[in-house]
Amino acid sequence: MSVVLLTGAGISTAAGIPDFRGPDGVWTRDPEAERTSTLSWYLGDAGVRRRAWQMRLESRVWEREPTRAHRAIAAFAAAGHDTTIITQNIDGLHQAAGSRSADVLEVHGTARSWRCEDCRATGPMSEAAARVRGGDPDPACPDCGGIIRAQTILFEEALDAQVLDAAFAAAEACDVLIAVGTGLSVYPVAGLVPLAAEHGARTLILNAEPTPFDGLADEVLDGDLQERLPAVLDELATGSIRGV
Ligand code: NAD
Ligand code: ZN
Repeated sequence: MSVVLLTGAGISTAAGIPDFRGPDGVWTRDPEAERTSTLSWYLGDAGVRRRAWQMRLESRVWEREPTRAHRAIAAFAAAGHDTTIITQNIDGLHQAAGSRSADVLEVHGTARSWRCEDCRATGPMSEAAARVRGGDPDPACPDCGGIIRAQTILFEEALDAQVLDAAFAAAEACDVLIAVGTGLSVYPVAGLVPLAAEHGARTLILNAEPTPFDGLADEVLDGDLQERLPAVLDELATGSIRGV
């Protein structure tokens, strides 16, 4: 049995990292914050970059601890179940929970490191954040003075084709796909749910709010995914979920 976990920001809210579009989401509370995730705004407006740095300091993804749900996924794979994690998250918490890097497809990149737009230099985000805390609100590349940014995929940028191909292949081949903590509103990742279903996978959605694919899924569980996911993985491990 092969299992794909498709995870979104909701799996990390219990780690203290707010989601974007949930009821208390960053963009729900302040729609202008979305500009910090848009390439042309980020490159063209120093005010947007300063805002982006402040948001990075607030979320401090490099200091966060994985949640119970992240650990449950890592334990499920460690028990020998064929597991692929396709995550929209940029916080690195699956790997922090012990999931093997080779099993984690970070389709939106990672905020644990930065990259220079000009010379492609990279470094740990914790170091750049320390410069912001030290009084530099928009730190420049230490090598060339260029604009530095998180190693995430911004709006107006293409996803990494290799990562995406691997995600599509995993969704087509899996026996079970579980979407966890995502509103399934961002493409192409959201399209992995119907793709898996078309290829015969059993699909489960665990999210506090409705998603566009609830009607298509075999099972939809609302409530707190931190409670629900470990129980679902236990059921899968013991073979008590029908149809797999
Ligand atoms: P989203 O903000 O669109 O949706 C998150 C969903 O999770 C919401 O529907 C919310 O109701 C639900 N949720 C939150 N906590 C929950 C809980 N404890 N139990 C059950 N459901 C819960 O997130 P998304 O679909 O992942 O898309 C947002 C984009 O923003 C992603 O592409 C991602 O790259 C980025 N993002 C990442 C992080 C992160 O890395 N932790 C945080 C914010 C945004
Ligand atoms: Zn540079």
